[in-house]
Amino acid sequence: MRGSLFLISFKAEQKLKGFVEGEELQKEQETQIPQIQMKDSAAGWELRIRDRLNAVSGSFCLAKWLQVTLHLHNGFTQSCHHVKSHKISLKELDTNPGFLHNTYFKRAMRYKMLQGSRPKECQYCWSFEDMGRLSDRHYKSATSWAEPYFDSVVEAGAEEDILPTSLEVSFESSCNFMCMYCSPQFSSKWMEEALKFGWYPIRDQSGNPNVLKRESRLPLPKNEVNPYIEAFWKWWPKLNPSLHDFRITGGEPLLSPHTWRVFDSLAESTNLHLNFAVNSNMGVAPALVDRLIDRVNRLPGRIKNFTLYTSIDTVGEQAEYIRYGLDYDAYVENVERVLARVEWPITVSFMMTVNALSLLGMESLLRWIHSLKVRFPKHTIVVDAPLLHNPQFMAVQILPDSFSKYVEESIRFMNSTRGKPGEFSVWEILRVDRVLTAMKSETLDRKERILRQIDFYRMFDEYDRRRNTNFLQTFPQYKEFYQQSKRWAKLASMVRFRPWIR
Ligand code: SF4
Repeated sequence: MRGSLFLISFKAEQKLKGFVEGEELQKEQETQIPQIQMKDSAAGWELRIRDRLNAVSGSFCLAKWLQVTLHLHNGFTQSCHHVKSHKISLKELDTNPGFLHNTYFKRAMRYKMLQGSRPKECQYCWSFEDMGRLSDRHYKSATSWAEPYFDSVVEAGAEEDILPTSLEVSFESSCNFMCMYCSPQFSSKWMEEALKFGWYPIRDQSGNPNVLKRESRLPLPKNEVNPYIEAFWKWWPKLNPSLHDFRITGGEPLLSPHTWRVFDSLAESTNLHLNFAVNSNMGVAPALVDRLIDRVNRLPGRIKNFTLYTSIDTVGEQAEYIRYGLDYDAYVENVERVLARVEWPITVSFMMTVNALSLLGMESLLRWIHSLKVRFPKHTIVVDAPLLHNPQFMAVQILPDSFSKYVEESIRFMNSTRGKPGEFSVWEILRVDRVLTAMKSETLDRKERILRQIDFYRMFDEYDRRRNTNFLQTFPQYKEFYQQSKRWAKLASMVRFRPWIR
């Protein structure tokens, strides 16, 4: 670390060192940074940022200072999506709402970065860098919400409070859906079900309310005062002008009064560099959709851009099975109403979470999205295809090779739109192409495949019982795969059976 650059008083340094070397650090194994020879042929901009970051230290990342996700429903915070969230201490929050973001843990991680050592929680980035590639540390630090603040971050050092410029917040876990890959931590409906029937008989117990309780991750009861939300509103007048990216997630945000309070506040202030976004399942009552349209129509001239992120993975009854609570026809109607009635150009981004059950209807979904691009050219309509990694047994890698034909057909369709009205961009096509690469290259060994298939059967067998659904009627194309998974599950329940040993 170039000590003179950072305004860390001796006292504060000792305090941070104490924290770093304390109990927390024992979980955080320090690793020395190898000299990275970047092979990446990325744009010069990111490479220039890399060099600037490296001049401070080989592990310095602006996201650790400027980006935050706040889970206000249970009092957790994290600096970016790649790191695990940690609990916010109520003690400091009383006097300083900025502790929602600037926790002692984060300050300690910042200190380590300034010292040039790698926080273990950032392993996602180190693994890319160890392959000689650029990582999100570089890409995030190069964004418009980070790079302009480079000098003020350096000046703040590890000790000072800093205002984030990129914020994602979840006020509540209230939700009307129980998507198959969600959990009681994020959906009140899931919580109701888990409390009534217990957790699913699968290996991953992270969604089990007993585990959540042990980790203090249970959402706070809705009828009690939530000190994290109170702190947020105290912080808000200072926070709002600093924000470039601000996204409300949930639960279902349109069911939370705090979402509407944000809309009202934004309509009365002006922050012309703000990209404001809401994640919605768009499965709420028409009156709430109309309220959304009305509030969005009050924002031109107040913010830079509004984005509606909405999750949909496939079409029809298969989509309804995956995102339990969804009425597919009502969803289509709601989205089309927003596109027709919002008066200024906004962005609607479809989050097509690619999972083991979503591939069959992928092309039909893309055809509908393409028709929207053609019919509503005023708005920017995009589709992203994030790959589901967890729960692992719902990821596409579990499927036989034959399922990749559905992705190939989807890519063919997307390519056929090129050069015509409503075309899919190269970026959108590459995102779907990535799915194919993952299916072909990330193969599972025999033991892992069997273990995942056992979970697959146990999950959906129980899912059908609890939710009165019927897997094989909804997904007849999976009959052989499902029966094989069932056989493994039956064998696994036998004493001393080791299914991966031939
Ligand atoms: S180094 Fe990577 S994982 Fe860590 S905060 Fe930065 S972007 Fe996130």
